[in-house]
Amino acid sequence: MVSPDFDAQGCLTAEAFARIAAAPPGRAPAELAAHLASCVRCQRRLLASASASPSRAAAARRPPPPVWRTAVVVAACVVLVVIALILLRTLTASPL
Ligand SMILES: [Zn+2]
Repeated sequence: MVSPDFDAQGCLTAEAFARIAAAPPGRAPAELAAHLASCVRCQRRLLASASASPSRAAAARRPPPPVWRTAVVVAACVVLVVIALILLRTLTASPL
């Protein structure tokens, strides 16, 4: 195979991976897609490059929420528990 898309071992080159990534979903070049579907080595390389991409790593690492927001949520939970206890006491009170 004398093609810029395949290296000496017959696997996809970085340029071929770029062509696949640039193609719209379902419209990758047929010969590249066929090789990718049948080659474990190229599938592993594709998965490794996808999980190591900086945009995904940045998306996975979100900053922690501010402390005041956590305090508001905890206070709201305490208020809801108090309301539930008051309602329970009201509903179980014996009639006068
Ligand atoms: Zn391959």
